[in-house]
Amino acid sequence: MSGYDVAIIGYGPTGMTLAALLGQMGHRVVVLERYTELYNLPRAACFDDEIMRTFQKLGLVDEISRGAEVQRGYEWINASGETLVDFEYDNPAAGGWAALYMMFQPYIEAVLDRHDKALPNVEVRQGVTISGIEQDGEAVTLRGTGPDGKAVTVRASYAVGADGGNGFTRGRLCQKVDDYGFQENWLVCDFRLNSGVVLPKFRQVCDPAQPTSIVNIGPGHHRFSFMLNPGETAEHATKHEGVWSRVSRYLGKDDAEIIRVANYVFRSRLADQWRHGRVFLAGDAAHEMPPFLAQGMCSGIRDSHNLAWKLDLVLSGKADDVLLDTYQAEREPHVRFITEKAIELGRVQTMRDPVLARARDERLLAKRKANQGPDKLRYPGLSGGLIAGNGAFFPQGIVGAGGRKGLFDDIVGGGWCIVAEPGVLDALPASCLEAWKAFGGRTAVVAGPTTAGALEDVDGTYANWFAAHSCSLAVIRPDWYVYGTARDSHGLAELLDRLARSLKPQAMLASA
Ligand SMILES: Cc1cc2nc3c(=O)[nH]c(=O)nc-3n(C[C@H](O)[C@H](O)[C@H](O)COP(=O)(O)OP(=O)(O)OC[C@H]3O[C@@H](n4cnc5c(N)ncnc54)[C@H](O)[C@@H]3O)c2cc1C
Repeated sequence: MSGYDVAIIGYGPTGMTLAALLGQMGHRVVVLERYTELYNLPRAACFDDEIMRTFQKLGLVDEISRGAEVQRGYEWINASGETLVDFEYDNPAAGGWAALYMMFQPYIEAVLDRHDKALPNVEVRQGVTISGIEQDGEAVTLRGTGPDGKAVTVRASYAVGADGGNGFTRGRLCQKVDDYGFQENWLVCDFRLNSGVVLPKFRQVCDPAQPTSIVNIGPGHHRFSFMLNPGETAEHATKHEGVWSRVSRYLGKDDAEIIRVANYVFRSRLADQWRHGRVFLAGDAAHEMPPFLAQGMCSGIRDSHNLAWKLDLVLSGKADDVLLDTYQAEREPHVRFITEKAIELGRVQTMRDPVLARARDERLLAKRKANQGPDKLRYPGLSGGLIAGNGAFFPQGIVGAGGRKGLFDDIVGGGWCIVAEPGVLDALPASCLEAWKAFGGRTAVVAGPTTAGALEDVDGTYANWFAAHSCSLAVIRPDWYVYGTARDSHGLAELLDRLARSLKPQAMLASA
């Protein structure tokens, strides 16, 4: 039996990212995965700028980029081929990276796998199926079976069930699952393309007779997904001959090889409780959503990021365990927003009633004719949890320092950070700044090109953000959500005091 800081059940994208983040912070982590090898087939197709920023934090951007492609747009066409929506993604988006990347998931997972296994304090144990969880005041004990059939027991201060929508942890710990009642049956067909084959990169065919999506799933690969009709069985639909005839308008057998045909039932379910003492649910284990906004994996990676720095603070004694209660309070509203929008979007794209579909087409065509572009969906900031009145996602711009220009996180580093206009920090009491540094916080002063001692705000990202939020500084959490903003050093001192009280309420009570 070993004593780990954190045991993670499941080695999908959620578990892999959590292991990487905790490992980077020096914690002893064990990952327990039932399969002996990586899954090696794609599920997710794309990720966003916030997720690329997370890969940037892990130092993996170059490698990840080799298996991902920037997506410029998204088009919807109707049954007659008319363009209903022609959407352009931001590049760069708020996170400093493109708003959307199309990826080959097995490649991305292989990068994360190599990274995790190279971390000296992360142990990945594949072929271990967990079937028991117990906990006491000190730790969690996980029990399962190893690849040789022998019993495995692992003890850790905390455990995270990142074992997917059909995993063990949710079923064992959750009393209730909130089901939105959305359920659609789709056929997902993945191809490896021969070189030179050109296909629409990202297209939704809004044909009421056969809703279809065509998606680039990273270099050299493509996915066609078809909504199945009631009564169509998986056994019949997954036959390869039928698949070739479904894609015949776009692809022939000389153009590509089928790598996988799967029948998926897209669902929307949220576990009622994501924390059970020392055990947390993350990723699909906590929430499942339909893929119309391509946010299932992204949401799992956000969960991992949210949990990682909080576990780090608690494990290192810088915060009380109660901080971990903010995990669900922060993540659930975000996940609910995205899930509800994904369901809404899916209902518009996949209308099966020809009369309603015609009305939709007319509405969207009229909008296009009037040069009204589609509204850009912005995901919400935090509305509760560990924030002092802001909670927005803080952007990443280009900054300059000492003749070098680069993305803010590369120049300044990660973790807690006060980003301020010149002058504010100078007026902060020295004891405040020392306490901030002892806590591990950083500071960054951003300004125009000729301000001594400041980073150059090359593209105006920070000046614009401060103006839009009527402030001159922001306290940024390690996951880039804004803890709070202030106009001057007095406001900053108040913010830091409030943060200290929130992180260590027990210490405050003891000294009162
Ligand atoms: C067709 C399709 C398209 C999608 N497109 C996108 C997209 O474009 N973008 C996006 O962000 N998301 C997308 N998603 C969603 C995304 O694939 C999932 O949200 C994501 O894979 C969930 O990751 P996870 O690590 O939480 O769970 P999983 O990937 O399910 O991993 C869980 C792991 O836990 C292991 N496990 C289970 N039980 C046990 C046990 N008892 N003991 C040990 N190990 C166990 C499993 O073997 C598995 O490896 C899509 C999904 C589908 C189906």
